[in-house]
Amino acid sequence: MQLLERFRTEVEERRAQHLLRTLQVSSSAPGPTITIAGRELINLSSNNYLGLATHPALAAGSARAVELAGSGAGASRLLTGTHSLHEAVERQLADFLGEEAALLFSSGYAANVGIIPALAGRGDRIFSDALNHASIIDGCRLSRAEVTIYPHGDTVALEHLVQGCPPSRGGARLIVSESLFSMDGDAAPVTALSELARRHDTLLLLDEAHALGAIGRGGRGLADLRGVSRPCLRLGTLGKAFGSAGAFLAGPACVIAYLTNTCRSFVYSTAVPAAILGAVAAALPLVEAAAAARQRLQARAAHLREGLRRLGFSAPAEGWHIVPVLAGEAERALAWSAALAEAGVLALPIRPPTVPDGTARLRLAPSAAHSAAQIDQVLEAFARLAQAAGGGSQPSSCGAEAATSTSRCSA
Ligand code: PMP
Repeated sequence: MQLLERFRTEVEERRAQHLLRTLQVSSSAPGPTITIAGRELINLSSNNYLGLATHPALAAGSARAVELAGSGAGASRLLTGTHSLHEAVERQLADFLGEEAALLFSSGYAANVGIIPALAGRGDRIFSDALNHASIIDGCRLSRAEVTIYPHGDTVALEHLVQGCPPSRGGARLIVSESLFSMDGDAAPVTALSELARRHDTLLLLDEAHALGAIGRGGRGLADLRGVSRPCLRLGTLGKAFGSAGAFLAGPACVIAYLTNTCRSFVYSTAVPAAILGAVAAALPLVEAAAAARQRLQARAAHLREGLRRLGFSAPAEGWHIVPVLAGEAERALAWSAALAEAGVLALPIRPPTVPDGTARLRLAPSAAHSAAQIDQVLEAFARLAQAAGGGSQPSSCGAEAATSTSRCSA
């Protein structure tokens, strides 16, 4: 069959280009270490930033909620799928961020591909950061709005674009950005973005997937930490620092009521199950009280960055808890990852199209649950890698700056 032949060829082409992805099957919970193919490895490839994914309180919360509300919601939210647990968790999440209301989604991906097209459509214009996550890119594409990609984090360029590119049919404008970027680990200029949005009567949507829980006062993320003014719609994911799954949008009650009616990934999808609601309800007070874990997380990341730079690897001099190590070509990222796995460290390669061509990397994401000794072990593994490469571990032309300045998205 012609179509099957096309799929076979595509897979083989990806393999030849060192771009084929395969599943890593673990037989343990995703803690600071993870067991893959019978080997226990130090896990630097998860987003379990506070270590909550294995916390007994979350498991107990899940179990209680399932007992109360069953394992499946049985219907979408607008039919019979809304349990009082949904209402309670949405209230808790809105209160956590000091917003009027919140709306739950089954994943961050589902949230972005539903929310963005609900907020902006034909005749409107969306301004999207060049390094935004795939779910934002897909949401922009689905929206049928005019989409302008602005250079990563560049609010001067963005302001020119906002002034020079009005929506052609007189519609509304939306700016969308991650607050902490998932693959580069750098922060968006959220205060400048919100001021710019206000000056130009533009709505701002911040995806705080990697910031909520992990940074800020009580884990309230970057917008809160920087005192970003309202209205600013904030998207949080619950499968990362919150140790569970799903996502939510928090903002003014009118936006949440509007999305409840118009957001297709909310309206046409079975409600988030009780197991998740129970885990999130249990996670929230733990997240809020986790100041020491948040400090430890940043300390582990700083330890990694300093050690990697000392060894000659291209890691940023400063930043938050996501540490990209630039390899350049996909083949090199793959080889590094394999060598590190041999040395007991799981650091999976991130390759195009997730990142721009020529900027394949290892994305190291420590957790507050890692010990300093484990980070030393990771650095020893990198030291061996540098030695094996004859000291020349890094292409000099490929710094962290090169990665962040390249556009990934042309929606
Ligand atoms: N937004 C960003 C910035 C992300 O990094 C991710 C996932 N890594 C998502 C959204 C999607 O979240 P989820 O995994 O809950 O689908």
